Amino acid sequence: MASTKKIQAGWYHNAMRAIVVRAFGGPEVLKLEELPDPTFGPGEVLVSVRAVGVNPVETYIRAGNYGPRTFPFTPGLDASGVVEAVGAEVTGVSVGARVYTAGTRTGAYAEKCVATASQVLPLPENVSFEQGAGVNIPYATAYRALLQRGQARAGERLLVHGASGGVGIAAVQLGRALGLHVTGTASTPEGRALVLREGAHEALNHSQPDYLEDQSFDLILEMLANSNLEKDLGALKLYGRVIVIGSRGSLEFNPRLTMAKDADVRGMSLFNTPPELLPGIHAALFAGLQNGTLRPVVGQTFPLADASLAHEAILTPGSQGKLVLIP
Ligand code: NAP
Repeated sequence: MASTKKIQAGWYHNAMRAIVVRAFGGPEVLKLEELPDPTFGPGEVLVSVRAVGVNPVETYIRAGNYGPRTFPFTPGLDASGVVEAVGAEVTGVSVGARVYTAGTRTGAYAEKCVATASQVLPLPENVSFEQGAGVNIPYATAYRALLQRGQARAGERLLVHGASGGVGIAAVQLGRALGLHVTGTASTPEGRALVLREGAHEALNHSQPDYLEDQSFDLILEMLANSNLEKDLGALKLYGRVIVIGSRGSLEFNPRLTMAKDADVRGMSLFNTPPELLPGIHAALFAGLQNGTLRPVVGQTFPLADASLAHEAILTPGSQGKLVLIP
């Protein structure tokens, strides 16, 4: 909670705790500090943060593998909480509303954050703050991958290649609701049980050899393309599509594999979503959250001060849903 606290530079009447990064590096560069409450201007919203979603992209940014950054900065795009104040010219967002963020100006790993009004979305009453922290990047990515880039159609066979993490669980729930036949993968029995519980018809073990033998899919959502793209092309039906969502390296493979299937390999980054499509994506997510079709799964929570442990955990195999920080 905000309070009057003594910090190195003096007294802040309204101080908050936030994670601050002052140089690129390993998880240890995520330091908890006390800062003045962020200020906000016209068109902006001040959110009192109740939970923060940890995403792999924040580990790439912290390590310096995602382009330059101005230091110091507070990481994070996905917060959930309550609107504390709104700036001039803000319409449609009220003080006291339960919300989740789709990006922030000041960073989500904090007790308070500032976002533009269009980045502040309503969180239905039936969705907890911890779950709300797992909505934006995972669910918007899964929606865009499945429906916009993947053009999924009911009755098709879908492989969610990496189904036990944030994006994968969202894709399984969406795919099942849309009437696809869903196969998901995870490396642990617990992960595969979770994937089945969340709606997959089958769960495969991506750490086993030959797990895709005799499989064929119309659409593959790929979380680790550098490891799997060649396998995906082997398991694709004629005219199938692979949507590359995640990749952590390069690979060498024979492009002839794409010819054999008339395959489409389509990349996607949520950050490239045309702005005019975002309100529709979040409207669909709101409806799905409200009627229970979409149910973010929180795998583990950490105090905000332990953000470094969460960054280690998110890159460790054995995913079972979202990792969430609690300020
Ligand atoms: P996450 O919660 O850490 O989940 C990672 C998933 O990948 C888990 O299901 C994990 O399963 C699985 N995985 C690990 N090794 C695999 C392998 N060899 N083959 C298939 N799956 C494997 O991460 P996330 O938030 O879901 O994100 C997934 C990936 O998408 C990350 O690389 C992330 O950076 C990327 N991403 C991209 C976008 C975009 O806009 N393009 C947006 C969001 C995320 P086990 O733990 O059971 O091994």
